[in-house]
Amino acid sequence: MPASSSSEKRANQSTLGAVPAWVDVTVPLKDGMVHWPSNPAVEIKRSSDLDCGGRSNVSSLHLGSHTGTHMDAPLHFIKNGASLDQMPPETTIGLAKVIEIKDSKAIDVEEISRHEINEADRILFKTRNSLRCWDTNEFVKDYIYLTRDAASFLAEKNVQLLGIDYLSIGEYQGQGHQTHRILLEKGIWVIEGLDLRQVSEGNYEMIALPLKIADSDGAPCRVLLRSLTSGEIH
Ligand SMILES: [Zn+2]
Repeated sequence: MPASSSSEKRANQSTLGAVPAWVDVTVPLKDGMVHWPSNPAVEIKRSSDLDCGGRSNVSSLHLGSHTGTHMDAPLHFIKNGASLDQMPPETTIGLAKVIEIKDSKAIDVEEISRHEINEADRILFKTRNSLRCWDTNEFVKDYIYLTRDAASFLAEKNVQLLGIDYLSIGEYQGQGHQTHRILLEKGIWVIEGLDLRQVSEGNYEMIALPLKIADSDGAPCRVLLRSLTSGEIH
């Protein structure tokens, strides 16, 4: 068993049994990992290495701002929009709903309107992407996305944050830009690239903090969820 799992286990045991564990729904950043086709390739290499005579281990990171699990700031699509370092921390710390999407093509108005969605909600969509897309290093073009109409529906509802389990909330081509614009113009913050395999539909506490990169259109983000109902994590 890797060291991290046994230390996680110890941490969980120390949290009084009944308290569910925090689940890390972040995709690890790795050298050569899958990325949006037109974005920079991900290179993570040791620039100083103890094994090669270095005095310490130090790595160099070369990656796009929308790599792995990351957040989009309004500035991603809106000229003079807010940058990620301007995001109020309350945006990504608090209650979040995970909604499981059954549709195998897209998240549409018909399906999401069957769920209770309120103003200021933080909603993370768990689709088949979680199971299908993260086990391969190939970019998956036909991932499940939020339609333009569903983006308008959620913007009307005044939600505060949306998350999805692949590299873009919008369609690969087609309506992708419009979905982004509708959400970002409305000031809805977006988390992309979640791995929601380990969580099921329900209510959670969320802690997510993107890197504070000045004037950034996006940044990698660590995202943790903890179920508010025992037994929802498996
Ligand atoms: Zn992005």
